Amino acid sequence: MLISEYSLMFMFQNIGTMIIDLRSDTVTKPTKAMMDAMMSAPVGDDVFNEDPTILALEQKAAKLFNKEAALFCPSGTMTNQIAIRCHTVPGDELLCDVNSHIYNYEGGGISSNSGVQAKLIQGDRGRITAKHIEDNINADYDWLTRTSLVCLENTVNRAGGSFYDLQTIKDIKQICQQKQLPLHLDGARIFNALVESDYTAADIGNQFDSVSICLSKGLGAPVGSLLIGTPAFIKKARRVRKVFGGGMRQAGFLAAAGIYALDNNINRLKEDHARAKQLGNALSALPYVESVMPVDTNIVIFNLTNKYTAASFEEALKPYDIKLAAFGKQTIRFVTHLDFTNDMLTKVIEVLKKL
Ligand SMILES: *Cc1c(COP(=O)(O)O)cnc(C)c1O
Repeated sequence: MLISEYSLMFMFQNIGTMIIDLRSDTVTKPTKAMMDAMMSAPVGDDVFNEDPTILALEQKAAKLFNKEAALFCPSGTMTNQIAIRCHTVPGDELLCDVNSHIYNYEGGGISSNSGVQAKLIQGDRGRITAKHIEDNINADYDWLTRTSLVCLENTVNRAGGSFYDLQTIKDIKQICQQKQLPLHLDGARIFNALVESDYTAADIGNQFDSVSICLSKGLGAPVGSLLIGTPAFIKKARRVRKVFGGGMRQAGFLAAAGIYALDNNINRLKEDHARAKQLGNALSALPYVESVMPVDTNIVIFNLTNKYTAASFEEALKPYDIKLAAFGKQTIRFVTHLDFTNDMLTKVIEVLKKL
């Protein structure tokens, strides 16, 4: 397809129909500038380690998090699952919050991909503490499951985009070091945390043994995640990626979108957060909304009174071309993103007030 035809299609998809999609920040489509970067990327066979654009993206991401190596993968699920496989052996147990994506939304992969079980911790909106970890490490008896990994999520998807403060993470790191437990971060939305907090990507990299980041969420790339760690860890991860079927060939076209996303789309996440806050405020004032979770970043989770179920609320918004995610029987999630504009925000708030 010619670029000019693509631009027409792009205009039609993004402006012509005006569907307002708040289901997830994964629904964004590449802009023309991102497409141009993709189309001009030099590529090669990445299974032979010869795709210059993927190598450049991996180096860029590693450097950003103050680590030495990274691995480009098709999805955040894969980067998390590879990390779990690399840090454990079958029969082990990992510790994570009850709301974790790795436990709830990765198809049971902890057990089916790695033969590992999860001990679930009830944290504060998805965030656990050093004390939780200390209390849940099993003693070294033959009959107890071997605790061998701690996984944090930042920001926490299922808990409304809450994020950790650095001291809590440092305390967790300290106990993990003491007990010789590796610490993995599911940082699918770490950039949403970075623009709202006082820590940097390097601060995060310094605390974790492995970090998973997504380019296809708020950063607006069509595909891609990275697993970041030491060279020895990434060497092992590369092998597991191949076994999981994630070895890609000329995927530099996709990596170019990732480089573009890291260069251009981090700071603007604040706009998504501002729009999410406005949505949250508007929702709090509505009679059919029972409660709204605090809106810390770009995720708005709210409960409906018995006027609506999640399903009937979804139906009520359909005629207005507004899409959302049902997140429980009476619970709805809205996620703001790169393709959710101020005009759309105005329209959504108008519609919500009319219902
Ligand atoms: C989206 C997401 C992932 C990975 O999802 P993929 O769709 O597999 O890329 C991992 N963790 C969290 C917290 C997420 O929100």
